[in-house]
Amino acid sequence: MKIFIATKNQKKLRELERILIPLGFEVLSQKNYTEEFPDVEENGTTFEENALTKARAGLKNTGLISVADDSGICVDYLGGAPGIYSARYAGEHGDDESNNDKLLSELSGVPEEGRTGRYVAAIACVFPDGREFTVRGECEGKIAFERNGTQGFGYDPLFISELGCFGVLSDEQKDSISHRGKALRLFKERLKEEI
Ligand code: IMP
Repeated sequence: MKIFIATKNQKKLRELERILIPLGFEVLSQKNYTEEFPDVEENGTTFEENALTKARAGLKNTGLISVADDSGICVDYLGGAPGIYSARYAGEHGDDESNNDKLLSELSGVPEEGRTGRYVAAIACVFPDGREFTVRGECEGKIAFERNGTQGFGYDPLFISELGCFGVLSDEQKDSISHRGKALRLFKERLKEEI
């Protein structure tokens, strides 16, 4: 059975392929198509809405079962910001360095106990027959006072989990507790029920 992964992010693509190929799916993505699918406007108010919007666009473009994810970091002191705006917190989409600088500056003077937050990941799956589902994974942590390590991406140098800062954890350690790891494990179980 064919399945389309609606992301241009190669890291997310590989993580989803690792789950879907052993389940017997033939995985397709933008790179299997000659035409360039338009970027989707993420105008939802939740991670789930944005993941669904991307997955529905994938279904519309390909006619295949489509999967997409949306993720970010929510900081309690900032009322849940940057949340769904995590990738473009400092303005430009995907500028990790500026995003981390902005987060540090917004939390300047906030003591350790006030620096709590969590990573969130939602994965959406839509089927040609109209079925849709989403799953969510969360990972609690604290925002560091300065960057640690060079592993991972995005806010990882600032995110301190129960196993330590994501900036110094191996991929396997991060996957074992991360928001995306949890969401992917739930996704796998839910997809098995649906097919
Ligand atoms: P998305 O591609 O719209 O889902 O944007 C997700 C954004 O949230 C990324 O650009 C990162 O800034 C942040 N983010 C989500 N998951 C992670 C993670 O596992 N590590 C670090 N940053 C993350």
